[in-house]
Amino acid sequence: MLSHVEVTARVTVTPAAHFVWSNRLDFTHDCLVCLRVGRIIQLQHGMPYALCTGNEHPAAMRVSAFDATEQGAERRLRCRITSWWAPFNDQMEPDVQASELTAQPWVRLNYRVGCHTCRDNGVGEWLGIEGHLSSDTAPVTSSCPRCGTELITGAAPEINLVG
Ligand SMILES: [Zn+2]
Ligand SMILES: [Zn+2]
Repeated sequence: MLSHVEVTARVTVTPAAHFVWSNRLDFTHDCLVCLRVGRIIQLQHGMPYALCTGNEHPAAMRVSAFDATEQGAERRLRCRITSWWAPFNDQMEPDVQASELTAQPWVRLNYRVGCHTCRDNGVGEWLGIEGHLSSDTAPVTSSCPRCGTELITGAAPEINLVG
């Protein structure tokens, strides 16, 4: 059956930050193809299928919606992950049953941030700072590694099964 999961995240940016969400994310899923629970799946918005990192096989899963919005200093992302799911038992641990949302849901969202302070000081690579927010991220403030200007504050994304 078709299954939908919604991942939402928000970060607060300072006026010095130029913030862009990446269209790539990693998501933990009980994989019907290799019959293993808790596999990390690599997804990219715009790609028709995903990649299960267990043995790098295609997975019947994609990012079906990817909405980045701005409200004041907030940068929000809501993305929907759609997959084909059916019940199974783990191939290596037959007592473990797969779930539509894996037992310990985990996601990692990536972003790129630029520093206007560095830009204004003529630093050529002011846009190149990459970072990520994952389910095990504590609320964190990141600063520019070059000049120390505070850029963003973020917290762990939320994961919800959509009925
Ligand atoms: Zn797999
Ligand atoms: Zn800087």
